[in-house]
Amino acid sequence: MTNPAEAHRPSVIRVVEHPDELNPRGITITCPSCGARRDWLLLETRGRTFVRCRCAHEWKEADLDLDYFNANFCYPDRTWPDSRDAMIAMGFDGLLAGAVWS
Ligand SMILES: [Zn+2]
Repeated sequence: MTNPAEAHRPSVIRVVEHPDELNPRGITITCPSCGARRDWLLLETRGRTFVRCRCAHEWKEADLDLDYFNANFCYPDRTWPDSRDAMIAMGFDGLLAGAVWS
């Protein structure tokens, strides 16, 4: 039986920025919504990994597993009360869609 305190505990989402191209299996990942090829946010929650684009499109990327995420994740240096605040603070809420950093 689940501990009631655990059931109401908010889920933790770990995020890490990945400014370069992403090709965990040798094929460069592109955003299916806007076609971007780099500048990602990688997310992990409950052992599942996701990719988020600057256009705010987010998807479960089959080629990214937990081992890949953990290899690219370092100790967290920032925290936010919820995922919406985190996406805004990190610039992945869609406002910077199409922005290219050089
Ligand atoms: Zn996109």
